[in-house]
Amino acid sequence: MTSTPRCQIGFDVGGTGLKAALVQSGQILTQVAADTPAQALPDDAIAVMLGLIRELQQRAATQNLMIEGVGLGIAGLIDAPAGVVVTSPNLPTWQNVSLAERLQQAIGLPVAIDNDVRAMAMGEMRYGAGIGAQHLICLTVGTGVGSALIFNGEIYRGASLSAGEFGHMVVVPQGGRTCGCGNRGCLETVAGTEAILSLARRQLERNLAPQLAAAMADQVLSPKLIAEAAAAGDPGAQSVWQEVGHWLGMGLASLVNLLNPQKIVIGGGIAQAGDLLLNPIARAIRQQAFARPAETAELVLAALGPQAGMIGAAAFVEERGQHS
Ligand SMILES: [Zn+2]
Repeated sequence: MTSTPRCQIGFDVGGTGLKAALVQSGQILTQVAADTPAQALPDDAIAVMLGLIRELQQRAATQNLMIEGVGLGIAGLIDAPAGVVVTSPNLPTWQNVSLAERLQQAIGLPVAIDNDVRAMAMGEMRYGAGIGAQHLICLTVGTGVGSALIFNGEIYRGASLSAGEFGHMVVVPQGGRTCGCGNRGCLETVAGTEAILSLARRQLERNLAPQLAAAMADQVLSPKLIAEAAAAGDPGAQSVWQEVGHWLGMGLASLVNLLNPQKIVIGGGIAQAGDLLLNPIARAIRQQAFARPAETAELVLAALGPQAGMIGAAAFVEERGQHS
């Protein structure tokens, strides 16, 4: 008797669009995408999601693949056990939407949801830079500084599901800048994308970043551009990553002491800076954390890139299958 090969659908619900893929054992087989209107009401956005699911169901059928379920990674506060999107910055009109239940009723397949950083962490743990680790911190720097925590191979969500707000750890207790959250001196104010760009602007104003200035003749300033200039030897761009890495390392040193992780995975756009970012992070951890947990914690770059979210969301379905 031959059994039909299984796969899952993994969604990455981002700020400007939806990406979804058929995933088999962490490999993306085929991928689809759609725009999400900025003010998408739940009904409209769910209709777009269902359209993508049907498209992928057809593609799976032509390859004789069985879809086990659908996983979604969504930015925001997600009640994963209940399958509810509590709030999401990408979906501002959504409040307490029972997304898993609504999709499940429409397609008749199991649906699992969680936040986007946890999806990335799950993908990296099972199929990427975190393979083999049971105690993992995953860090991503985009607009904000997000993290996901995995202990004993399981996602840690906290008592009311909001664990992982690493970006709002206070690292500049006196005289720090005001953060989007209202507090002062959060890690995000010194290592988030806005902080990265403003550090670079200061280097440009002082004429300390000539290669970056040249690149800006036809490109806008971005973490990617700063990473490229740094890799090409631009001293000003390199100093940006030195400083950002220092602050991230200061924050991570506290987590290393508190949690004793096996691996720290750095993802998101800043990962493009590579060793220029990892070295100052590692130095700060060595200087600030206790020797034993600092030696244990292996600092690595994320391996799955922008596909980590879809691969991890698909892995939510695999995890659920193993536990039921
Ligand atoms: Zn904050």
